[in-house]
Amino acid sequence: PSKDPDAFYFESYAYNTIHQTMLQDSVRTDAYRDFIYTNKHLFAGKTVLDLGCGTGILSLFCFRAGAARVLAVDNSDIIDRARAIVHANGVGGVVSCLRGRIEEVVLPVQKVDVIVSEWMGYCLLYEAMLDSVLWARDRYLKDGGLMVPSQCTLRVAPVADPEWVGANVTFWRDVYGFEMGEMMEGVHEDVVVRRVEPEVVVGRSQAFKLLELRTIRKEDLTFMENFEVELDRDIDALDGWAIWFDTFFLTSPYEAIDGEARAEKWGSRVDGSNAFTTGPDGRETHWQSGFMAIDHVRSPGQPLQKGQKINGSVEYRRRKDNERELEIEMAWEAVGSSEKGSQCFIMR
Ligand code: SAH
Repeated sequence: PSKDPDAFYFESYAYNTIHQTMLQDSVRTDAYRDFIYTNKHLFAGKTVLDLGCGTGILSLFCFRAGAARVLAVDNSDIIDRARAIVHANGVGGVVSCLRGRIEEVVLPVQKVDVIVSEWMGYCLLYEAMLDSVLWARDRYLKDGGLMVPSQCTLRVAPVADPEWVGANVTFWRDVYGFEMGEMMEGVHEDVVVRRVEPEVVVGRSQAFKLLELRTIRKEDLTFMENFEVELDRDIDALDGWAIWFDTFFLTSPYEAIDGEARAEKWGSRVDGSNAFTTGPDGRETHWQSGFMAIDHVRSPGQPLQKGQKINGSVEYRRRKDNERELEIEMAWEAVGSSEKGSQCFIMR
């Protein structure tokens, strides 16, 4: 039998480890819990769709907040565990587990009041699960219904991290006296998922994209945006770019703060019951940051001074051979300096 092209994707969610990782990411899971528990009135008596329920944790939160009915949908084998968990907690009267792809499953209701989902991937859009969330919104969400979470912003920041370059690039140039450059293949071609410590971020991050879940469309998920950053210290070389996202839970579908106002309001320090950051200034999450290392062979590093402005652009594309994978194209130019370059990175 021919394998569904998405079979690998759903299989990756069938086993315990990935769910344990997500549940133990307390920045993530606390944010959903705190929003739901501190805003019970938004859930009490409501019909909720939990899209991609996994172990069912978000459905259980909604149950506890007083939801009248929760439809927990997942197309991975994990749904069998969710069903058992729901019964073990005695909430089967409220939470129904349905196996299938949201695009194909038959829901026992026409419309829902709330869609709750944890769809975010590395660099936000890896996995492209948001496509399914938007599809479900258009098909099932009542007018004026609530998306949980409601908004995400993508941010970019300049990084100087000679230690990382030493360990992951320079190291291979001389391993016990031998050239092993072969081993670092990918370092300058792939998005590296890693913890980026605040100390190596050398300029205030900029929000380059705001995704408003109530209105955004699938076409908006491939884009090119410009940004401008300013170095806040002298550096020997610009070593790369870090990308991360912040997630916001708003209590009204019509509440919206635009990206710039939000950046002013929250900076990159987003923490609290109605938002969380996956960035360097926050506690570590399982998403960490997407790090894109500048290839100093192509763009030799040079000292840059505090106050130096760098203009750049970020382009997000889907990969041709796998729509769930991402291509991120970075271009940058330091104003009045010869520091500039462009590189394409793949998140696979
Ligand atoms: N809500 C859980 C799990 C989140 S992981 C938690 O917060 O811990 C995302 C889940 O969504 C995975 O289990 C995956 O199988 C499921 N999923 C992704 N796309 C889906 C789709 N189109 N239809 C149904 N389930 C989907």
